[in-house]
Amino acid sequence: MKAIRLFNKDNEFTQCLICAHRCRIKDDKLGVCKTIANKGGVLYSINYGILVAQSIDPIEKKPLFHFMPGTFSYSIASPGCNFRCLGCQNADISQTYRDENYEAYLEYFKGLKQTPPEEVVENALKAKCGSISYTYTDPAVFFDYSLDVMELAHKKGLKNVFVTNGYYTEESINAAKGLLDAANVDIKFFNDASYRRICGGTLEPVLEAVKLFYKNGVHLELTTLLIDEYNNNDEEIKKIADFIVSVDSSLPWHISRFFPLYKMQDGHITEEKTIVNAYNIGKGAGLKYIYAGNIQLDGYEDTRCPSCGKLLIKRRGYNILENNVIKGVAGDGKCKFCGYTIYGVF
Ligand code: SF4
Repeated sequence: MKAIRLFNKDNEFTQCLICAHRCRIKDDKLGVCKTIANKGGVLYSINYGILVAQSIDPIEKKPLFHFMPGTFSYSIASPGCNFRCLGCQNADISQTYRDENYEAYLEYFKGLKQTPPEEVVENALKAKCGSISYTYTDPAVFFDYSLDVMELAHKKGLKNVFVTNGYYTEESINAAKGLLDAANVDIKFFNDASYRRICGGTLEPVLEAVKLFYKNGVHLELTTLLIDEYNNNDEEIKKIADFIVSVDSSLPWHISRFFPLYKMQDGHITEEKTIVNAYNIGKGAGLKYIYAGNIQLDGYEDTRCPSCGKLLIKRRGYNILENNVIKGVAGDGKCKFCGYTIYGVF
């Protein structure tokens, strides 16, 4: 257990300020994510340093297509989640730690090895990764550990990446300011009812987080998992695209194919035409970079120059087959053919 940074003591409750649930937790109780405990008015991370995943992934897998393309990212996760998405693809590590029994948790975590932040950074350097990704489960449930790793990572020249549901508070986003370099944020739906029913969250904090990450200079890409039964309607897809355009039409949008998983086994694999339709709606809204995910659709994973239309990055899966982006002086990208500035870090 390690005391967390962001909480407020308020009479019989202590309020956690990491994510938008803003849980008010009584003594000896846990927050919604079941990974933050109140002990005598102080909040502790009970899974601090307990890693259930350490992998070396292409950065394209996050997915980030405009952030250090072609590099590897050392990817870590601790158990738990602040959402309970019915179609979660990592439910085995995100949704199994939901026991109400606080003592049982402590007992369980007591037997597990803690990985010091230094070890994660050393492993990332040994694996020749350019960044560390806090991913698979939501980094909100290992936020303080992430901050500790991020500080060390920066000292060693590594970048930091969140793959997240974006359910953060202003306090936590600002606590990560200057340490977090890039994020892929899910915009899962554009209505509150679906967020509540399927994920146990709400829409507005996610939209506010996207705006604040952007304002804080974090490289941003957005992902929407398209599920035919839930969010495949033109109006909702258009609202998501319009929102992204309102922040910056250069932000890459990944529209991803759903496969039935966890508690959504009754759904079906998203049809190809759904992905193509969303792509066209996004283009119509003015988005410059849209990518299809979890599906091989020739040309839909490629980057084209928004100005001259020439092919800049040809991709297949996580592989880059051709790259015509020239690195600019500030690390930004330029089209080799017309000099247009390409959003991202290259
Ligand atoms: S991280 Fe979020 S869900 Fe967990 S205790 Fe804090 S506010 Fe609640």
